[in-house]
Amino acid sequence: MEKRNYRYETLQVRAGQEIDPVSKGTAVPIYQSTAYTFDDIQYGADLFRLTRPGNIYTRITNTTNEVFEKRMAALENGVAAVATASGQSAVFLSITNICGPGDNIVTSPFLYGGTFTMFAITLKDMGIEVRFADSDHADDLEKLVDGRTKAIFLENLGNPAFNVPDYEPIVEMAHRKGICVLVDNTFGIAGYLFRPIDWGADVAIHSATKWICGHGTALGGVVVDGGHFDWTPEKYPLLAAPSPSYHGVIYREVFGNAAFAGRVRVDGLRNIGAAPSPFNSFLMLQGLETVSLRAERCCANALAVAEFLERHHSVESVNYAGLPGSPYHKLACKYLKNGFGGVLTFRVKGGFDAAAALVGKLELILHVGSVGDAKSLIVHPASTTHSQLSPEEQAAAGVYPNLLRLSVGIENVDDLIYDLETALK
Ligand SMILES: *Cc1c(COP(=O)(O)O)cnc(C)c1O
Repeated sequence: MEKRNYRYETLQVRAGQEIDPVSKGTAVPIYQSTAYTFDDIQYGADLFRLTRPGNIYTRITNTTNEVFEKRMAALENGVAAVATASGQSAVFLSITNICGPGDNIVTSPFLYGGTFTMFAITLKDMGIEVRFADSDHADDLEKLVDGRTKAIFLENLGNPAFNVPDYEPIVEMAHRKGICVLVDNTFGIAGYLFRPIDWGADVAIHSATKWICGHGTALGGVVVDGGHFDWTPEKYPLLAAPSPSYHGVIYREVFGNAAFAGRVRVDGLRNIGAAPSPFNSFLMLQGLETVSLRAERCCANALAVAEFLERHHSVESVNYAGLPGSPYHKLACKYLKNGFGGVLTFRVKGGFDAAAALVGKLELILHVGSVGDAKSLIVHPASTTHSQLSPEEQAAAGVYPNLLRLSVGIENVDDLIYDLETALK
């Protein structure tokens, strides 16, 4: 597969798969097996010593999961990827891959609600401090960096502000300080709209539950290792100093430039257990086969819906990076390809009551707290996805009582606009 540099649309249906030589089936088989046989005592010992690659147990590796991982690494232009049980576990395992008690990471205020709560509560309870900058600008992030900072964490098209961080100065600042950049690229749709690693970021993370799966049928996550960062033992002992978890091996030596992914797998997945089911990886692979087609349709539909809402007299404002009036339009034009994303927010006139009434009147658009489905989904973030935030935190994240978030699906756009127009009356 690697002789010609295949384009995205080809990689999304083929990368990572070798046709099974026994069955010769075209689909990736579901290897629904918990454990794997060892050829002999030495073979088993070598696997456990990490001196030979191979399957031991599905909590660590699985052949179906591996095809999905290789495909995601190809689509995100990384050197390796690790599939996880959910997007939450992908974020969690990425942070704890490099941070211990007393360490910190610096992030922007524009985060997915679940990530915000993990950062503000769970990681804090574990002794990992998350420092929230006033904005996603490089200078605001830099102000919070100190000697114990291990990463800058950003969300691409952060939920729900849909900010596009200016990656170039942020990556320059982080690397100047010897710190890596982690990007939750869920809204970058499997790398089709945006590839953080191409812009110098070090790790791309996804909730595969969203556009990668694409049909609302399975939870999953993935961590893609860019393979360029120099993990030093002083700054990153978990990757570059002897690990007590594996009788003193140094992950950077065992896994080379894929040390970040390697440790997520043999330490994170092995010890925490947030591994995906092979069946779910099969569904992710099915989703990936059409991801560029769905992305194009979702983005085209979202832009048309955003333009309709912007013109409507009952709508106070629309937030979509594809609209020329968006504060992020210029950065979106610089960094995004193939569209401006599948999700928008809008504020209706008449406050909370008007927002609630609108949701109640929709017939086609489903009232659901998720995104990235083939079906259009709407939710009221202040009372649901971002309800764990205080009113001040909600305001900082751009969550208002009259705000609605719409994840635009692949339906006929005239039907979507009809549904909104009727409900807005
Ligand atoms: C949904 C989501 C997550 C969490 O992923 P799950 O698969 O639901 O665990 C993390 N980040 C972003 C941006 C998301 O949209």
